[in-house]
Amino acid sequence: MTLPSPAPHGSPTLAGTLSAELRGDFPIFTHRPELAFLDSAASAQKPRQVIEAVAEFYAHDYANIHRGAYGLSMQATGRFEAVREKVARFFGAGSPDQVVFTRNATEAVNLVAYSWGLDRLRAGDVVLVSEMEHHANLVPWHLVTARVGARVEAVRMTPDGRLDLEDYAAKLARLPVRLVALQHVSNLLGTVHPARELVRLAHARGVPILLDGAQAAPHLPLDLTALGADFYVLSSHKMFGPTGVGALIAGPGRLGDLPPFLGGGDMIREVFATHSTYAGAPARFEAGTPAIAEVVGFGAALDYLDTVGMARLEGHERALLAYALEQLRPIEGLTLYGPALDSSDASGGGRSAVVSFNVRGAHAHDVASFLDEAHICVRAGHHCAQPLMRALGVPGTARASFSLYTTPAEIDRLASALREVAAFFA
Ligand code: PLP
Repeated sequence: MTLPSPAPHGSPTLAGTLSAELRGDFPIFTHRPELAFLDSAASAQKPRQVIEAVAEFYAHDYANIHRGAYGLSMQATGRFEAVREKVARFFGAGSPDQVVFTRNATEAVNLVAYSWGLDRLRAGDVVLVSEMEHHANLVPWHLVTARVGARVEAVRMTPDGRLDLEDYAAKLARLPVRLVALQHVSNLLGTVHPARELVRLAHARGVPILLDGAQAAPHLPLDLTALGADFYVLSSHKMFGPTGVGALIAGPGRLGDLPPFLGGGDMIREVFATHSTYAGAPARFEAGTPAIAEVVGFGAALDYLDTVGMARLEGHERALLAYALEQLRPIEGLTLYGPALDSSDASGGGRSAVVSFNVRGAHAHDVASFLDEAHICVRAGHHCAQPLMRALGVPGTARASFSLYTTPAEIDRLASALREVAAFFA
């Protein structure tokens, strides 16, 4: 399991090393050998280590958690809570108490919007987002600001697909911003935003910041304590773990006095017929029976990623992206979106392994259908980022996204199929 150090440009040999080593861990590729699965940004495939961990837990240790006085339940509770510790360690949060399990990143944003937002936002306040956000980090803010008479303003994108940092700083200075809520990595363009700089600029104005890490956590080594965001959200299913699990990871003390989001069992201290008092964090934010086995599976996914090594994964994906851009750029009639590979500015940032494109004369859905006939899975449409589509001036794009199991041969298949599609629509 040793890799040479990352090459600066697309190298099929380097890009293939990690996938050759790990692809056998993913049963879907044995069962569907014809597939070129290039839609990991939507959801990643699962290694057998995760599938087996979930099955093993159900077969050996399953019971409801936090309530049973019997050994089996206490053991299940232990396994569930051990994953909370693992999540804190993996992402560099100071304490497991900063980790709230949710259903997904979307629910984690909603938790902050309804708990923090309804409690703290006042009429006239601004929640500062960007025009590049996924709807998951827009709609909750639309809902909550409308309830309190606050409003949402958006930071512009630069023509090359990065966040306009001047516009960000200007809006922070000029508007009554009460919260910043920005993506860490764009699901459509792959732009890795300079997260530390975004946090620094918000905090310099005394404004808390939420970062949507749904597309960052699967690809980048993260140290959330060093990053310093007040709220960070992510989904397990994009990180090779099960669906139905996400996390809100809060900065130290950030959950302390926030009111609950959902009410029910497990989140209370005492309940009377007329009122209730609530448990401390993180239990206060986890009402009802959680996705117990899926959380255990998420723990197995993090173990898997630990074994692979996030730095190696990042190097592999960088090589794949460089190789893909080299293959796709020369195709006549193909428009590629997103920042240049070496576009990181002085404040950090860069590009992750996502390529969005359009074929001249073809609708993105037709391109995706054509590719599907060649068993190449890509996503097409607005990618839950309609404001970004408007900024790009297109109704949709097709998107190929890469992961640790993606091979250079799959990219060759994509390039060759796209040459055919482009020739067909020319
Ligand atoms: N944020 C970004 C940038 C995403 O790409 C996604 C999903 O694609 C989400 C949030 C929402 O993730 P989920 O559907 O797992 O809640």
